[in-house]
Amino acid sequence: MAEESAEVRQLGRRAVVIGGSIAGMLAARVLSETFGEVIVLEADQPPEGMLPRKRVPQGHHSHLLLLSGQQVLDRLFPGFTGELVAAGSVETDFTGDMAWYHFGEWKQRFRSGLRNLQQTRPFLEWHLRRRLGACRNVTVRYGAIVEGLVLTPGGDYVSAVKLREGRGGTEELSADFFVDASGAGSQSLQWLTGREPSAETTESVRIGLCYATRYYHGRPEDKGRPWRNLLISSQLPELPGFGVILSYEDGKTGVTVGSYLGEAAATEEAFLKQAQSLPQPHVYDYIREAEPLGEIRTYRIPAQQRRRPDRISRLPGRLVMLGDAYCRFDPIYGQGMSVAAMEAELLQRELSGLANGSGLDTLHRRYYRELVKLTDYPWEAALTEAFRHPAIPGDRPPGLRLKQWLTTKIYRASAKDELVYTRLVQAMNLTHAQSVLLHPSVLVRLLR
Ligand SMILES: Cc1cc2nc3c(=O)[nH]c(=O)nc-3n(C[C@H](O)[C@H](O)[C@H](O)COP(=O)(O)OP(=O)(O)OC[C@H]3O[C@@H](n4cnc5c(N)ncnc54)[C@H](O)[C@@H]3O)c2cc1C
Repeated sequence: MAEESAEVRQLGRRAVVIGGSIAGMLAARVLSETFGEVIVLEADQPPEGMLPRKRVPQGHHSHLLLLSGQQVLDRLFPGFTGELVAAGSVETDFTGDMAWYHFGEWKQRFRSGLRNLQQTRPFLEWHLRRRLGACRNVTVRYGAIVEGLVLTPGGDYVSAVKLREGRGGTEELSADFFVDASGAGSQSLQWLTGREPSAETTESVRIGLCYATRYYHGRPEDKGRPWRNLLISSQLPELPGFGVILSYEDGKTGVTVGSYLGEAAATEEAFLKQAQSLPQPHVYDYIREAEPLGEIRTYRIPAQQRRRPDRISRLPGRLVMLGDAYCRFDPIYGQGMSVAAMEAELLQRELSGLANGSGLDTLHRRYYRELVKLTDYPWEAALTEAFRHPAIPGDRPPGLRLKQWLTTKIYRASAKDELVYTRLVQAMNLTHAQSVLLHPSVLVRLLR
């Protein structure tokens, strides 16, 4: 374990990570096992406590950490989720504590043991930062903005980053390996190829998703509500709006309302109106009664986007993308942080398979091939739903109608059938392959 390890199996002297958010911290943890030192370059200033950061504005909004993400975090930082719970994260049972209105029906509630671990995004980041701080060979340089890459003379590999700190000029920082975890605004593909992104190198589906979030004092159950979380899902195309109420640390509750191809509800009036437009009154009733803790914050997610470096021939090596820099999902499914964690473990596996540092030259090719496979399911699952809306543009893949028919069947059956609901939650949490939904034990229940 790199946190306390005395020995590092060195593939190189130094690795550099661009971006010190969720993906960057997990990448740094993994790299600390195989590089003498790891330097994380983070453009933001050091965070003050558990507050959202300027360059991570989504940190104001409700975040769920899927079961798959919880499991990876516990493997990379043993005991991590126990620490979160001890510090105040809210543990709930997904199917038991969540009232979920989905495809015209309330799902039955029962205790399945499928755990939600609920904490605000800054709380999670703060605890990750603390654990990363115990990795002796990892340093985070705040206020360090990467502005470009330096390639070796033949253009085969990345050899350094160009970075600017404070008001100073640009300097170059060399390393043996680089991870770009700079989020959805990453520019490394342009820097590597000298070309603007094209449809070939960046898959992008315009979903026009709007979020508006506000926090409130107290928990739903304090006021006698028979649930701790509540979700009213969109049903495209008729019902593009959604609403979610989640319990968080320190006895606060987050409420998010939003819509596909809609407007973000920036004012009190618009927030209430959007809640009122949902097919069930619970979110509206809740926010009319509850005491707000702060302002309404909005966010627009124009597109679900996945970069495809695997399609670029002669891509310079020794740099890989991870997290939102590689793929930004429709956030409604809560996949981003957990997929970033799974990607960090993929990188760990690729690095551990190398006999020596020369393998770093071609690691990116294998990594990107595997990354496409890792992200295919969460990518397609979100688009299967988005493509129900005729105004969401994009090439419909073959078999889409059949998939949509099947998922509708699964959603409807899961409202009444414990096994189908459990399998759906396992697939959504990415702890199980989507094939669990096609198991005969599930299919036979869909025919009832
Ligand atoms: C509204 C909303 C709700 C979401 N809800 C969920 C959820 O419930 N569950 C979930 O798992 N995911 C959710 N997500 C997705 C999740 O926020 C992202 O997947 C996650 O933040 C990805 O982390 P990241 O480290 O890749 O990128 P980011 O968190 O975006 O961080 C990128 C970092 O790189 C730094 N950086 C950028 N450029 C440079 C540069 N040039 N030099 C140095 N540093 C740089 C930034 O300062 C930042 O710290 C949501 C997203 C949104 C927008």
